[in-house]
Amino acid sequence: KEQMYAEIRSLPSVTRDGVPISIQLNCGLLIDLPHLKASGAEGIGLYRTEIPFMVRSSYPDVQAQTDLYARIIDEAGDKPVIFRTLDVGGDKILPYMSGEAEENPALGWRAVRIGLDHPSLLRQQLRALLLAAAGRPLSVMFPMIAEVAEFDGARRLLDLELKRLAAQGVEAPSRLRVGTMIEVPSLLWQLPALLPKLDFLSVGSNDLTQYLFAADRGNPRTSTRYDSLSPPMLCVLRRLVDECARHKVSLSLCGEMAGRPLDAMALIGVGFRTLSMSPPSVGPVKTMLRSLEVAALRDYMTGLYFGSDHSLRDKLKTFAKDHG
Ligand code: PEP
Ligand code: MG
Repeated sequence: KEQMYAEIRSLPSVTRDGVPISIQLNCGLLIDLPHLKASGAEGIGLYRTEIPFMVRSSYPDVQAQTDLYARIIDEAGDKPVIFRTLDVGGDKILPYMSGEAEENPALGWRAVRIGLDHPSLLRQQLRALLLAAAGRPLSVMFPMIAEVAEFDGARRLLDLELKRLAAQGVEAPSRLRVGTMIEVPSLLWQLPALLPKLDFLSVGSNDLTQYLFAADRGNPRTSTRYDSLSPPMLCVLRRLVDECARHKVSLSLCGEMAGRPLDAMALIGVGFRTLSMSPPSVGPVKTMLRSLEVAALRDYMTGLYFGSDHSLRDKLKTFAKDHG
């Protein structure tokens, strides 16, 4: 199997009926970078910046962050990298960052909430990203945005850093793309106000599923209770596909779903054309999509969105079997 996946890496990422699918990688460490060349992925759809923060014993300063981000951009070469700003708190605790224990950490003070409450932290990271890009393209993504006002707040900090560096004569990125994750359901009701402000939107299905169903993703009793392949989740995903198409915003999905072949198949059926996944998933997902007929799947799925099924997994499996 390993050898089969190695061979498929060099083949085009196109469905049997000719629909191109962009496969991107989720990374968080420099040692992940060699996978980018080896996997045949088109870029890094999610670079989790908190991972280097978690393995250190103290908070990295702007210089240390700049060096790290510059190395990632260097290693990626001409493939794009989406840097997600710090997503700590919740289940990702920094040993050197104090804070009171929270009763509901997943609903607590985490990710962009910390950055907005401590703007100097977020500004340092944004400064380091701009310095690291040094005239090259840069994509920045904010995690856990729950309302447009939070996106505006984070974007304002980025603009302040851009101005500050311009005043110092530092070259701006040749192309700056700014986006957000959609992980908190409240944002679903602000899409018309949000999307005109974005270059891209990426679905964090791990957290979006957790918040949609009010089911802790880290607790096995609840995390398997609701299915990502269920009518509510697929309705949400389809709505995102429609709204992003209307507003011409690029849409991707970077949660674990994207790396599971059956889930990835459903996502393509819903209309996703960009999937970001961990390196070992690329082979299996690419194998699946190269044998997929999108048009047949789309038709098959039209009847599934509004049913009362707990899960559509079995029906989608049946489709997969019947269609090779
Ligand atoms: C997600 O929530 O789906 C996601 C990709 O972010 P993380 O898993 O890092 O919370
Ligand atoms: Mg998340």
